[in-house]
Amino acid sequence: MAVMGASGRMGQMLVQQIDGSDIATLSAVVERTGHDWVGRDLGEAMGGSARGLIVSDDWAEALAVSDAVIDFTAPVVSVALAEQAAAAGVAHVIGTTGFSEDDLAAIAHAGQTGRIVRAGNMSLGVNLLVTLTQQVAQALGVDYDVEIVEAHHRHKVDAPSGTALMLGEAVAAGRDVALADVADRGRDGITGARPAGTIGFHAIRGGDFVGEHDVIFAGEGERIVLRHVATDRALFARGALRAAIWAQGQGPGEYSMIDVLGLSR
Ligand code: NAD
Repeated sequence: MAVMGASGRMGQMLVQQIDGSDIATLSAVVERTGHDWVGRDLGEAMGGSARGLIVSDDWAEALAVSDAVIDFTAPVVSVALAEQAAAAGVAHVIGTTGFSEDDLAAIAHAGQTGRIVRAGNMSLGVNLLVTLTQQVAQALGVDYDVEIVEAHHRHKVDAPSGTALMLGEAVAAGRDVALADVADRGRDGITGARPAGTIGFHAIRGGDFVGEHDVIFAGEGERIVLRHVATDRALFARGALRAAIWAQGQGPGEYSMIDVLGLSR
């Protein structure tokens, strides 16, 4: 397994997970050109002893020695890598979030020939929450107002989180509407009364929150709250490694963690 963005918060977690696996081994570690880890031994760059694996900025070289590449970086990186990994026949696990519609179309195009697993959240618990959210939305209908509230650490660059959008998609699917038509992101000012059927998104940023998500169904006289709290980002790295191993047995396509975990909507 190759790890893109090896010095990142998730990159370092992925290295640790692969090192602890009896099935996978670390084949290559990649950082962006100009990063001070490039050319250094990975073990030393991570503050330990040398291990004989040099951090590279050469994607083709990394793909040539790998069965899968795990990528928690930035949208521009993941979109470009999707085409290259597909051409090289290497499974591509994408944990990156913050994609535009055009980015997603480019990834879907790469998924016609390559094997891609993409999920805004790689944890079992959140993917279970996605399936439950769809069921609850379907059962309750638009009489219950849905608000999705998420909290992340101060370094996160995109909002709403990829997970919040997954949960919003699940509500929209349960109600048989398109999320783009009903999403209401971060109210401010004199907004007027809440239109029925909208899905509200709110993002808290600060400190070292790993990731928290509430899906609130607010009705007359009662509220239902579905909540997931992540306390350790190793959770996401474990899910990504599981996805990379699962992808080895699959044909071309763009898959999600719902597929990897065998959860059905
Ligand atoms: P980070 O900034 O700590 O790490 C990103 C790394 O990518 C950096 O080390 C950066 O140098 C590297 N990078 C940038 N350009 C590169 C290139 N051209 N080639 C190789 N490496 C490159 O960020 P993070 O907290 O690790 O998060 C990364 C992404 O993963 C974000 O989009 C975040 O939202 C997402 N994320 C997803 C999940 C999930 O379960 N899907 C969980 C956590 C984070």
